[in-house]
Amino acid sequence: MVIRKAYRFRLEPDEAQQALLHQFCGQARFVWNKALELQKRRLDGGVPLLRYGDLAKYLTLWRSSEEYGFLRQGPVHTQQQALKRLDQAIWEGLDRNNPKGFPAFRKRGVHDSLRYPDPNQIKLDLRVWDEAGRRRLPKIFLPKVGRVKFRKTREIEGMVKNATVTRRAGHWYVSIQVEVEQELPLSKLSITALDLGVKHLATLVDGTRIDPLFPLRRFEEKLVWEQRKLSRKKRFSRNWYQQKRRITRLHEHIANVRYDLLQKLTTRLCKNHAVIVVEDLKVRSMTRSARGTVDEPGRNVRAKSGLNKSILDQGWGMLVEMLRYKLSWRGGMLVKVAPHHTSQRCPRCGHTDPDNRPDQPTFRCVECGFSAHADQVGAYNILSRGMEKLRDEGWDTADASAGWLEGWLSSHSPDRLFAEIFGESCFGRI
Ligand SMILES: [Zn+2]
Repeated sequence: MVIRKAYRFRLEPDEAQQALLHQFCGQARFVWNKALELQKRRLDGGVPLLRYGDLAKYLTLWRSSEEYGFLRQGPVHTQQQALKRLDQAIWEGLDRNNPKGFPAFRKRGVHDSLRYPDPNQIKLDLRVWDEAGRRRLPKIFLPKVGRVKFRKTREIEGMVKNATVTRRAGHWYVSIQVEVEQELPLSKLSITALDLGVKHLATLVDGTRIDPLFPLRRFEEKLVWEQRKLSRKKRFSRNWYQQKRRITRLHEHIANVRYDLLQKLTTRLCKNHAVIVVEDLKVRSMTRSARGTVDEPGRNVRAKSGLNKSILDQGWGMLVEMLRYKLSWRGGMLVKVAPHHTSQRCPRCGHTDPDNRPDQPTFRCVECGFSAHADQVGAYNILSRGMEKLRDEGWDTADASAGWLEGWLSSHSPDRLFAEIFGESCFGRI
């Protein structure tokens, strides 16, 4: 199924380009207001409204007239798009049940936007090195504006369909809409989140603990034992080399077992869930040092030492990577979210506080008294962050493949959702 996705990036236009963007936004606004005035007069006079096709003819007239000839300086497409949107807004506005009401005249600087509907006219130049070998920002070509730099914060996948330039809070942004072929396994629609932990490898949002690496723990003692033996041998002696080989083999064995266990686990997870949300490990490793941070005071102190650490660190990384490609094979996807405060935020009232964690396994909100297992709360917060991200990324809710997600969200108020995940009993006060 083909779905539409949108990527939004901050534009970095130079001064001349900014002036052009302002000018073109002004022209689109002018066209909107002019056509709205025309339609309002017809409405008041009881004359049938014009549809887009007729409005577009007016635009051609305006552009070729002496009086409004300044419109010719801007691209015709963005002005046509303003009319298209006006046309839609008027017909929707005539419906009394529409909460938005009848469209209004546009003011300078409010909702300034330019839509470029023709993918052939938008060209992306994604090179990040210039001829001299210096880093540069990628550029997007916009008709009559030229090549505008933008901050590409993520990869753009799919076929570019259109682009919209908007101005918000003093900055220019471009939203690039793409079409991608995506098959969500519709029979097994489900979204879940994983909280990657130290005691258990991961906790699912439904409370399932996953610890496939438990069998590896038995190797820990053995490894310590073999290493001690090595330290007693004479360096570079025949015995020393022999012992060293033994340790290498043990490490290899551990790696193989871990790989195998993770393969089985991820296959099972991907069969049961279409979308899985996890914390972004790159960011996470920075926020959670072994000594603990404000976010996680001392949580990892003991566990982050020695073999346990290497098992877990590599286990997390492998787990996430396997999930990513296995989900993509099945048409699902992996969503990564920022890990900050996921274990301290109350899922019921939103209160975020280190005091919500009296000890490692317990979550108890100091504000509303909500209490649950800390890992599960973490997974829940990761899940809700993932949902937010999906919506921000412009998952087209009209589309069936994404529609289930929105439907699922709207049919569950946060409390309801939470009750379903944790069981009604989780709502009791302590
Ligand atoms: Zn609370």
